[in-house]
Amino acid sequence: MDHFDYRGGVLHCESLDVPALAQRFGTPLYVYSHQTLVDHYQRFRDAFAQLDATVCFSVKSCHNLAILDLLKAQGSAFDVVSGGELSRVLEIGADPKRIVFAGVGKSDDDIRMALDAGIGWFNAESEAELDNIADIATRQGATAQIALRINPDVDPHTHRYTTTGTRETKFGVDLERARRIFRDFADRPGLDLAGIHLHIGSPVNTVEPYVACVTKALSLIDELRADGHAIRAINVGGGFGAHYDGSEAPAASAYAEQIVPLLCGRDLEVLLEPGRSIAANAGVLVARTLYTKTSGDRQFVIVDGSITDLIRPALYGAFHFAWPVAPRAGLTPPQRRADLNLPGTTVVDIVGPVCESGDFLAKDRHLPHLQRGDLIAIFSTGAYGFVMSSQYNSRPRAAEVLVHGDDAKVIRRRETYDDLVAAERFVTSYPSHAAPKKTP
Ligand SMILES: *Cc1c(COP(=O)(O)O)cnc(C)c1O
Repeated sequence: MDHFDYRGGVLHCESLDVPALAQRFGTPLYVYSHQTLVDHYQRFRDAFAQLDATVCFSVKSCHNLAILDLLKAQGSAFDVVSGGELSRVLEIGADPKRIVFAGVGKSDDDIRMALDAGIGWFNAESEAELDNIADIATRQGATAQIALRINPDVDPHTHRYTTTGTRETKFGVDLERARRIFRDFADRPGLDLAGIHLHIGSPVNTVEPYVACVTKALSLIDELRADGHAIRAINVGGGFGAHYDGSEAPAASAYAEQIVPLLCGRDLEVLLEPGRSIAANAGVLVARTLYTKTSGDRQFVIVDGSITDLIRPALYGAFHFAWPVAPRAGLTPPQRRADLNLPGTTVVDIVGPVCESGDFLAKDRHLPHLQRGDLIAIFSTGAYGFVMSSQYNSRPRAAEVLVHGDDAKVIRRRETYDDLVAAERFVTSYPSHAAPKKTP
């Protein structure tokens, strides 16, 4: 699953013990495992090797340049959803032809920048967007290769905020409309409409929704080909599960076992956009206990990490396993499960210092005793963790460290108070308060 293990009663990342990392780099701290990123990428690539699929890592899940760079070295392509993400992957020297650009609201600047860079695919989501891309492309003398994002109306059975492939969401176009769009836009100058894109939600912890949506997409492709359109590619999207609570997510090979046979021999280039399944288990958030407190019959452990470092529990009710980095009485977790209840533990909420009741990292957990100064790890936070962090309450963002064997490198330094105000300007200099007049 990953390279975070308790050895001698202490959490290690690869060969390094986490308390030493916290001592050296401070807390809150994101710690990533190089080997876990590589393992998950390779498992994914190997599972879909028979299709020679292009694995486009979803940059929005974990966008640190060092992590993108190490995935590039493994052969990864990239999926971006904004001009900012595009600039990150260009910064690391990714091959533009192996970049796909998704998202319902690409701005004109985004589109111009992507055309200038010569990216491989735009995943387009509406007629209005196709119109706009065509206009900008013809003005620039360019042609945009397009995959139309379809909404196959398949329920992935995940959180409603991360469901994207049912009829009521803002994403994609439904199947009937897709045929009309191909008819209307096939000959439009500036466009090369040649693919179908899917992304039904995240995380999708069963294989069946993929089978359902790929099957629907393939019959659409058959119809489109019969209508005379040259369809060259299918992009199956992302959303593949990660391990948060036990091992609820299917392995890459389990997804591939059912998806690959559907796509074999179809004369289609296959693209995939995994984010979470590669990055989530490759990171932990380490926080230090500031205080413990009892309120009514609830016990709180107040730590220096907060909603500003990890918003998923507050935003989606997401579960992240939490456990002391060096638990007392040697109570190391046999599994990372929501229902873990070892003798000698008590029920606590892990909360942060931010002025919001929603500022919690974990609720109702049976944990070994924690006291001031103790470190706690919040697991499976490599995806949608740091990237969603904010400076609310003027909290500088945490540092990120990448561990490779017995080596640890800072891949993003901790922000300073100067960073907090670096982009701000005084509008004028007001006269200083007049000194109180002396009475003669
Ligand atoms: C977010 C997103 C992904 C990645 O989802 P994961 O759950 O991280 O795999 C892939 N494709 C698109 C279009 C997305 O919006």
